[in-house]
Amino acid sequence: MSDLIRLLPDHVANQIAAGEVVQRPASVVKELLENSVDAKATHITLVLKEAGRALIQVSDDGAGMGMNDARLCFERHATSKIRAADDLLALRTMGFRGEALASIAAIAQVELRTRSHADDLGTRIVMEGSQVRAQEIVAAPAGTAITVRNLFYNVPARRQFLKSDAVELKHVLEEFQRVALAHPGTAFQVLHNEEELFRMPGAADDASEAAALRQRVVHLYGRRYDERLVPVEEATDFVRVQGYIGKPEFAKRSRGEQYFFVNRRFIRSSYLEHAVRTAFDELVGRDSYPSWFLFLELDPSQIDINIHPTKTEIKFRDDRTVYAIVHAAVRRALGRFNISPSLDFEPEPAMIAAFSGASVQPMPAPAPIQPWRPQDLGVRHAVTGWQQLFDLRDRGPAMPELSGAPVPTPDHVVPMRELDGEPGPRPVFQLHGSYIIAQLRHGFVVIDRSRALERIGYERALKQLELGNGPSQAELFPRNVELSAADWALVEDLLPELRALGLDLQVFGGRTLTVCGMPVGSAQDDPERVLEQLIEQLHTERGALKLERHAALARSMARSISMRPDETLSPPQMHDLIDRLFACEMPYYTPSGKPTLITYGLDELAQRFERG
Ligand code: ADP
Ligand code: MG
Repeated sequence: MSDLIRLLPDHVANQIAAGEVVQRPASVVKELLENSVDAKATHITLVLKEAGRALIQVSDDGAGMGMNDARLCFERHATSKIRAADDLLALRTMGFRGEALASIAAIAQVELRTRSHADDLGTRIVMEGSQVRAQEIVAAPAGTAITVRNLFYNVPARRQFLKSDAVELKHVLEEFQRVALAHPGTAFQVLHNEEELFRMPGAADDASEAAALRQRVVHLYGRRYDERLVPVEEATDFVRVQGYIGKPEFAKRSRGEQYFFVNRRFIRSSYLEHAVRTAFDELVGRDSYPSWFLFLELDPSQIDINIHPTKTEIKFRDDRTVYAIVHAAVRRALGRFNISPSLDFEPEPAMIAAFSGASVQPMPAPAPIQPWRPQDLGVRHAVTGWQQLFDLRDRGPAMPELSGAPVPTPDHVVPMRELDGEPGPRPVFQLHGSYIIAQLRHGFVVIDRSRALERIGYERALKQLELGNGPSQAELFPRNVELSAADWALVEDLLPELRALGLDLQVFGGRTLTVCGMPVGSAQDDPERVLEQLIEQLHTERGALKLERHAALARSMARSISMRPDETLSPPQMHDLIDRLFACEMPYYTPSGKPTLITYGLDELAQRFERG
């Protein structure tokens, strides 16, 4: 019997392995640029022909290689960057697998010219299909130049899979931009078919990190980005978050520039994306995307870099803390620039410290701004009732006696008649069945009732979804509702969550549901109407990200149960509504960003009456 198992010849094995690392020209560009960065280059030039299909050349003025290293670098698992598995835990370089050059040399014609600074002469090596075609000593500038021609020349199937030059170039430039953003100190030049696409200097040595990054963003995306950027800076012992977010008004309909880097390595993370997008929360519409360039730095032992060569996902050992700090950093940045209702200045350092057990460098308090709006108050969590909130103006937003106070939970609210030592309930009025007006010490507030209900319902629904225990009010006469196929498909897999929200739905058979109970506190009492509105809302929310499923559901539910026919509220009911609104985490806006209330100052009245 003859042996069936055979070892594959090296070049075939390399070719197979290469498929893992090199999918398209952009993969080669990424690997070569990262090698130059790892070699501490200060100038890197990228030259492309036909979107990299015909030619990719990366030259740098980095460390260069001696003759032996030049030969070795094309061997699989040849790397100067780690020596043992443990080194992975302390990784500071981009590369570490020693696979890239071997892979590229398996599926292209590669020429390397390199000289280390210590040597007088350099080395030239020509590789083709993993074979050394030439090796010689040459005169060469210090640094490394690698030229990759005719990618996939020996793998026609792969070559055929490449897309148009426009698409491939887009991928290439995307990789380039990631590297360029992560290394603002390095100068870059990019040429495609002899046309210069980018030329950018490295930031001056004495430029701050923030200034260097700003300059880099402007070079990559244009002058107009200068005014769009809001700096983010948050440092704890555990993680440092810095960089920029785009102002909400420049959010785009399509995904634009959203970059996370962890220890200067570009990563994708729907988890962190969620942290940022919820920090923008009501400031940008659900269907538009703010931009961000955020750099996280943390001890390499706190992350698991995916060992797979092309994956950009990583795992944090403590992802909840990272989430909380990123979220807080973005909120604070928005707040500092008076972009968002600045609710969270004081509590956040405390929250971060609680999360990470780490000490926090507090940011300077924001300057108070005129004219007065509830947004201007920086200490909401540290007060014990909404009325007090508005009265804080007297004392200025930065109140030493309040900072450092424990962060109350949202239901920690003192009914307002007990506030501030003032006797008796403060006056409230209802207007046209849809507005509530309440007197404040220095003015009054107008609350849109159904918007307030929407906000309250939204936060309650979110909490119920988390806990899975929304109370339901049984229907005396369960009602059957038959759904269309499209509605059924939508509702069917949400049934458990809808029940968690207190909407007790039973499957009657076919596409018919029986409504056995309604969420407690629903302003609507017609179950059919609620279900109908809910489905309509769900259809509009459907584009929502998976992670935001709860938010989408909570929004839909809140809207469906807050639409109430006009009805007169008693003063205690109005007080109750106001209390519940201000117990919300974000009382000033509905989940979709519409204001829930407007405040008027006595000074404004005085002005209109021309009292001088
Ligand atoms: P890795 O980057 O994972 O170590 P590569 O195959 O990309 O693996 O590179 C192999 C080795 O070749 C690197 O470890 C480095 O020592 C050397 N090398 C590659 N590119 C350069 C460069 N531009 N300058 C200096 N050395 C380089
Ligand atoms: Mg590498």
